[in-house]
Amino acid sequence: MCNLLTSFVGLVFFIGKFISILYPFPRFLIGLPMVFQFLKSSYTKVKSALNRARQLLGTQLTALFKGKIDETTLEQLERALYEADFGVQTSMELTNKIREMHQQNPDLKTEDYLTALKSHIQSLLNQYPVTLNQLGADQRPQVILIVGVNGNGKTTSVAKLAHLFHQEGQKVLVAAADTFRAAAIEQLEIWAQKVSVDIVKGAPKSDPAAVAFDAVQAAKARQCDVVLIDTAGRLHTKTPLMQELEKIKRSCQKVLSHSPHEILLVLDATTGQNAIDQAKTFHKFTPLTGIILTKLDGTAKGGIVVAIQRELKLPIKFIGTGEGMDDLQPFDAQNFVNSLFE
Ligand code: GDP
Ligand code: MG
Repeated sequence: MCNLLTSFVGLVFFIGKFISILYPFPRFLIGLPMVFQFLKSSYTKVKSALNRARQLLGTQLTALFKGKIDETTLEQLERALYEADFGVQTSMELTNKIREMHQQNPDLKTEDYLTALKSHIQSLLNQYPVTLNQLGADQRPQVILIVGVNGNGKTTSVAKLAHLFHQEGQKVLVAAADTFRAAAIEQLEIWAQKVSVDIVKGAPKSDPAAVAFDAVQAAKARQCDVVLIDTAGRLHTKTPLMQELEKIKRSCQKVLSHSPHEILLVLDATTGQNAIDQAKTFHKFTPLTGIILTKLDGTAKGGIVVAIQRELKLPIKFIGTGEGMDDLQPFDAQNFVNSLFE
């Protein structure tokens, strides 16, 4: 019995190894179902993106916990968390947690407090499923619509996602539905060439909904796994532009009734509370399935990740850690929290 079990475990291990050797060969060659669960977050990339945030917050908290814990320290802690963009509720909650711990055992060490903070933050972040909606092979292509305000990183994120999926062995098509500026179409064309994926584009000023329609239809005909639709930047306060998104959605549905399968809002992590306001309005007009949080490598303070998920009750599915094509990571709470504090 024991031998049988050992052989079974060995076989599973061998198959796993075999798959990892074949990776990143096209999945249809190895007959696996839909893919996205294999996307892995790079700890090194996230950690290096959060260097600045970690230096600020980590150093501050370690210094606080090393000293005597009293009401002044706790007040400083709450302020430090608030200034790191955690939001009022979370800053208060985390401070109360430390207060309680100290009351129950005044001899706790710096490490104990930091570990408690990390685990509490991680549990807040773990409440939302961060993986993309999974589709069966017969439901492809997976249609992902990318929306957001100008300059937040939509086009770059489309390119990075295309690269990520392409590397996974998926057949990807990108759609340049930001027809508002000719330069935006060119920008995506250059990226598509760089990451070796197909592109469908329309003429400048043409109807973005028509481009989306053509793209989904082409992706279906070419048996693509995923189609990523780039859209024009729109201010969340401008109603007609928000309604245009509905039209784009309807175009996708004409080809694939349950699409778009994902509507991801791109937010710039360096804009703090403003990012949350943008997300609320977008979500009201066009229900979102998740967030891509870009520019975490900039002056962003890590707490915004917690504030966004908590306030919007929406998962952050990817984070942007730089301007290159490899600088997009699937969000991983444990990775993120460790990068912010260690
Ligand atoms: P869009 O207007 O929303 O399509 O924004 P773009 O994709 O054109 O990006 C605007 C700028 O932000 C470009 O200079 C990008 O290189 C930059 N950018 C996008 N994502 C990131 C990121 O994660 N980190 C950094 N540092 N820059 C980014
Ligand atoms: Mg763009």
